[in-house]
Order: sequence, then structure tokens, then C-alpha cells
Amino acid sequence: MSLLIRVFFLAAVGWLLYRAYIRWQTGNSRSGTPPEPLQTVARCAGCGAYLPVQTLSPIGRCGACEQNKP
Ligand SMILES: [Zn+2]
Repeated sequence: MSLLIRVFFLAAVGWLLYRAYIRWQTGNSRSGTPPEPLQTVARCAGCGAYLPVQTLSPIGRCGACEQNKP
């Protein structure tokens, strides 16, 4: 009977260690730097500066060039 209890105890400890290991693994992967969203960079048609596409006007000019040349 005592052997059965010992085996059960060892199994429980092993299961807890396994759970702790899985939690540690997932915590490690989550604590890493999050993948940055892809940002497309385009060249301004006016000054030639590389800027994110969102900041360029529909014709491919940055804000400064848009103000200089309407
Ligand atoms: Zn520009």
C-alpha cells in the first residue's frame, strides 16, 4: 500500500513539475520582444526621404513637400 502511495506522490510531483515547465516555457516566449508590425517604407517623390507609406500623400510626397508645392 505504501508503495502505491509513493508512486502516486511521484506522479503528482512529476505532473506539477511538467506544468511549471510548460508555464515557464510559455512565459519565456511571451516575455520576448513582440514582433513589430510590417511597415512599408516608400521614398518621397519630392525630397527623396524614406518615410512610412501612411505618412505620404496619395501621389507619394511627404507633408513638407506637399506644403512647398501645392
Ligand atoms: Zn518630401
